[in-house]
Amino acid sequence: MKKSTSLAMAMGWVFSISVAGSAYAQTVEIGTWAGFRTAAVSFTFDDGPQSDVDIVLPMFKKYGYKATFNIVTNWANGNINGMLTWSGVQELAAAGHEIASHSDSHPDGTMSANEISSSKGKINQNIQQPYGCVTLAYPNCNTPGDAQVLQNYVVGRICNSGSSIMSKNGPSNWAAVPALMTGSNGTSDFKGNMQTAVQQGGWVAFLTHGFTTGTNGYANYSPTDANAMEEGLQYAKDNDSKIWVAPMGYVAMYIKERKASTATASTSGNSITVKLTHNIADNISKYNYPLSIRVKNDNNWTTVSGTQGGKAITTSIKDGYIYFDAVPNGGDIVISSGGSSTPTSSSATEPSSSNSNTGVSAEFKIEMEDYMQGGDGVGYRDTDNKNDKTGYRTDDAGIVAVGTGYGIGYTMAGEWFNYSVDVACEGQYSVVARAATGNANTTRFSLSVDNVAGSVAVDVPSTGDWNTYTDVEGTGTLKLSRGKNVVKVNIDENYINVDWIKFTSDNALCPGNVSPQSSGSNGNSSASSNSKGNASDKTSQAIGLGDIHWNAYSDNVYCQVFDMKGQLLKSMSVPKTQSASALWNAASAGLSEGVYIMRYGNRDVMRSVRVRK
Ligand SMILES: [Zn+2]
Repeated sequence: MKKSTSLAMAMGWVFSISVAGSAYAQTVEIGTWAGFRTAAVSFTFDDGPQSDVDIVLPMFKKYGYKATFNIVTNWANGNINGMLTWSGVQELAAAGHEIASHSDSHPDGTMSANEISSSKGKINQNIQQPYGCVTLAYPNCNTPGDAQVLQNYVVGRICNSGSSIMSKNGPSNWAAVPALMTGSNGTSDFKGNMQTAVQQGGWVAFLTHGFTTGTNGYANYSPTDANAMEEGLQYAKDNDSKIWVAPMGYVAMYIKERKASTATASTSGNSITVKLTHNIADNISKYNYPLSIRVKNDNNWTTVSGTQGGKAITTSIKDGYIYFDAVPNGGDIVISSGGSSTPTSSSATEPSSSNSNTGVSAEFKIEMEDYMQGGDGVGYRDTDNKNDKTGYRTDDAGIVAVGTGYGIGYTMAGEWFNYSVDVACEGQYSVVARAATGNANTTRFSLSVDNVAGSVAVDVPSTGDWNTYTDVEGTGTLKLSRGKNVVKVNIDENYINVDWIKFTSDNALCPGNVSPQSSGSNGNSSASSNSKGNASDKTSQAIGLGDIHWNAYSDNVYCQVFDMKGQLLKSMSVPKTQSASALWNAASAGLSEGVYIMRYGNRDVMRSVRVRK
């Protein structure tokens, strides 16, 4: 008994509890490190030189790792040769890296005590990041006073110390976290130090200024060979099951939360309920960095799904355990047998039922940058001015470039965007959004329709950074009526980027050959091209057929119509200067009532359509 307990303790932190009744207690383990890895590694970069963006950003992106950048606020305010300004620092933050303080003025000696909080305030003003500014790296490695530092920061960093590799419980003093200087006055042995950390099950941090190549500005102390660092990252990636690479502040939060958290689990029927809480309370952080958790898969479930506080979380099954990440004090975690339901098929080549009362598949898409005109309070609600000026619109409520197009970003909880959509086919629509968030936690936005009850929540899992987009299904459906609808996109939690939202109905009702003038709809099976081709009016997203992007066509948009046996009935095109309804009118002219397949736009877009007379 003693032996098995210590084995379990070595693998993680174990808690169990007895519960009366039919439910039974489960053992829960919190991973010593994220992903139940063996060791943690943090890379920290001081002073904010241009090489942070030129060298570190692409190198870390290649491996999918995040680092900590310690910024001198007066330098970011200035226009100093070789040093980043705030826009460069924002670029680092947008990629999911931690932005931390390295004082306001970088004095030669010890930083003054008043810069402890003022530098943090300036970083929080200029940089949006999920946990705020929680790390301070002292200029010249001198702490300005442990007590004051620990009233403002989760972690304060010094330089090399006697024991450079920390234990799994972190440093003895959180205001004096050691880091190994890299480069000509330090080490280039990234791999060896990581190996030692793995052997000890501990945490190693590196401190880098500039590089032997690149633009280093004031960060010219102890230049580091970028190739040696990249070899270190490659080594970490090759040992991904053992080495957790994460920013210093996040590793610090993880350790503090893990040490303070209690986890209990109870199995009942087809679900396990896990409670994960801590009572750390200070003004620095909520300590809501996700912890890695596992419970025994006692019932040998083959598929599971999970939620925390009602929001979907990612689960996996491996080696007799169910694994997931969860946020302490983030609500009950429920793991259910059976997995999530199969995603709704949006395939439109399947004909709808021959029953004439049933609808057809319909689909349209809204581009998020095309919110309604009218400004703040009408087309959108913007609570900050941290917008990247793309030039796409003059009333920029937070538009970001997404590939060669645009989306919304710099979003804060409480903000919203309104979209006027002209719906051809009424019905219940499910949604899929292409979205990104560098938050470590699942982040929610939701949709509702003006004057219609109900909403659809979209829980976006972490995509690693704000430039990596993934398609996420919403929960539930929205009722859309034929004609104009105002769809509201509500930002429920900070920092989600959204490129577009696609609406799909498997059972929509479309009229045949209805003139758009009389009904306000185009009478097609499905909807929407975006209005980029019509820059004079972004208040309403023109309704097209499916995903036709009219701008993508130099002159004509073509369409083919097949009967349900696949026989080509007609083939046509309309000038792209005409509306989508002109295409529909041409396509449906002369057809008798019934269901047909239309192939149009990009030639791979196919929809079943119903013609009614
Ligand atoms: Zn410095």
